[in-house]
Amino acid sequence: MSSQAKLQVLVSRAELNTTVDKLAAAITRDYNDKNPLLLGILKGVFVFMSDLVRRLDFPLEIEFVRLSSYGSGQETSGKVKMMQDLELNIEGRHVLVVEDIIDTGITLAFLLDYLKKKKPASLKLCALSDKPVRRRMPVKIDYLGLTVPDKFLVGYGLDCDEKYRNLPDIYVLEE
Ligand code: 5GP
Ligand code: MG
Repeated sequence: MSSQAKLQVLVSRAELNTTVDKLAAAITRDYNDKNPLLLGILKGVFVFMSDLVRRLDFPLEIEFVRLSSYGSGQETSGKVKMMQDLELNIEGRHVLVVEDIIDTGITLAFLLDYLKKKKPASLKLCALSDKPVRRRMPVKIDYLGLTVPDKFLVGYGLDCDEKYRNLPDIYVLEE
């Protein structure tokens, strides 16, 4: 990374707060009596997921997988690797996949296909943000927080070479 990297706020922490509030309200309406399994995709989702689940006041369980499609840097490699698989059995469960950002859709298309084979009772997707102009694989987002422009974003869990995940707002990274 160049030392010239500049950060411009795109989504403030206040806007993130109201966005997560709305998502939590919609998820509560649909899942409060279903004991769902919230399945987060590491690593980027860890901040959003922890804000989201603390707003959900009903029985649920949490699981993670770790997928990798980006190598280091900002372009997807187009190949998805399962770096850490499910530990829980999802057969017959109401599974809600939670993702930080959807870009080409390749990661989610791969994961949803993989999960469907395990026969969950239902399978839906919640994404904090979506970059629809970059889509290469169709993905249905059941709960969407924000539509974002085609820029490389960092902060609120999103990284560039593992940096910036700790920033409390979402920024455009300009190098
Ligand atoms: P997709 O497979 O949809 O192209 O990519 C999804 C994954 O790429 C996301 O889970 C995220 O890890 C990463 N990604 C996509 N866009 C961005 C971005 O703007 N910033 C960062 N840091 N990661 C991104
Ligand atoms: Mg991710």
